Amino acid sequence: MPVFGKNKVRVRFAPSPTGEMHLGGLRMALNNYLFAKHNGGEFLLRIEDTDQARFVPGSMRNIIETLKWAGMDYDEGPVLNGDVVTDKGDHGPYLQSRRLDIYKKYADELVANGHAYPCFCNAERLEQMRHEQELRKEPPRYDGLCRNLSAAEIAAKRAAGVREVIRLKMPQEGTSKFTDLVRGEIEFENKLIDDQVLMKSDCFPTYHLAVVVDDHLMEITHVIRGEEWISSTPKHLALYSFFGWKPTEYAHMPLILKAGGGKLSKRDLATSAMGYIAEGYSKEALLNFVALLGWHPKGDKEQMTIGEMIENFDLAQVNKAGAIFTTDKLDWLNGLYIRSLSHEEFSKQARPFLEKAEFIDAAFPEDKLIKYAALEQARIKKFTELAPAIEFMFKAPLPDKTIICWKKQEPANAVKNLEAVLPVIDNISEKEFNVQALEAAIKALIASAGTSVGETLWPMRVALSGRAASPGPFDIAAALGKNETMSRLQTAIKILRT
Ligand code: GLU
Repeated sequence: MPVFGKNKVRVRFAPSPTGEMHLGGLRMALNNYLFAKHNGGEFLLRIEDTDQARFVPGSMRNIIETLKWAGMDYDEGPVLNGDVVTDKGDHGPYLQSRRLDIYKKYADELVANGHAYPCFCNAERLEQMRHEQELRKEPPRYDGLCRNLSAAEIAAKRAAGVREVIRLKMPQEGTSKFTDLVRGEIEFENKLIDDQVLMKSDCFPTYHLAVVVDDHLMEITHVIRGEEWISSTPKHLALYSFFGWKPTEYAHMPLILKAGGGKLSKRDLATSAMGYIAEGYSKEALLNFVALLGWHPKGDKEQMTIGEMIENFDLAQVNKAGAIFTTDKLDWLNGLYIRSLSHEEFSKQARPFLEKAEFIDAAFPEDKLIKYAALEQARIKKFTELAPAIEFMFKAPLPDKTIICWKKQEPANAVKNLEAVLPVIDNISEKEFNVQALEAAIKALIASAGTSVGETLWPMRVALSGRAASPGPFDIAAALGKNETMSRLQTAIKILRT
């Protein structure tokens, strides 16, 4: 097992509670979880709720419940008891909004040591400044007007009640370098980095101050986060150096892109993890799918259980290039998962979807459901596809004459062939009414009558399913049972005779 320094690996999933947990969040949680478990380390949950404007009530509950559902138990983090939030672990509180005193203390320390400064520029001035920078085609950044205010100037502004924020005094010379565990050496010129706001006028910290303070106090060893944060890393490194702390290791995971380039659609991103489950995907396939967004495991083994993912996870195999999101891949993984289940387990997991479609209720017998569901287990890609695919099992069909007949077959000929099938089926005992017995008996009938296979089996299959495309006639008959099979054949004969 790899050891990172002397310290035990500690990582955190640090979502902002701005809505339901979607696949991007699930992926970041899983990357951190797999890394922690692979290295025998600890996995923390921290809720980054310092942006009051973007806060969505209920979001934290959804995050906690999604992690629980996914089996990603965290060693430390907030716990909900009804509506009461408590802390599990020794490094709490794990909600940033409950740590405001801590951030204030560190912001004050930075100001006292000359590494941060109060800024009194109002929104209008900042807007004007940004506008002018845009015209000059310069990157937007604070122009440093308040960087060197004297103590007297600061006191005067405060006395006049001007609102203030605290800004980072980013060094203007030199470079910031770090080795990203995904991307290798990364270097930024300090003079291009903005004097980031660290404390807002509402006395809440920004992400940048809170993340550094918390990662340090919570003894985080590795920060695994999205690529969109790379350009913020120099600011974070400056803070670590001002505080005299050792920075964490960094791994920036590639962005998630749409196949063919471009951004993901709202639908792909906005569908919550639970939304995908309601759409008929399994937890196992969904976790497998999000783990592969950016991670290219050795040996090309893509289908993995959570245990295998933990065993194999390695940041060295994460791609730098954007991770391509395709629903086809999710469908493929889900199909593999469905086919790996026993018929019993498949019907158990499919049951809620058939109940939702109102084809069955809770009293519908298990043994019958197993047979019905198994008919399409080899073909469907998600659970929601099952109900429409086997609807005919629950509702006896009234197929059109033209579909019952095979190619140019005359209705009279189809009647003759179906009538020949009836006594053969009737002859098979209830006990032996299975695919093998049916196939043997009906193939023997066709051979002895010298009729074409299609002109018997096609009408028989359509009589049972009502569809031009469906599972084979022996499979359907065996699942329906003798009485229902006989009755459907008789109905088709009647239709052909009209
Ligand atoms: N709250 C940040 C987000 O939701 C966390 C980024 C990080 O992991 O540092 O993107």
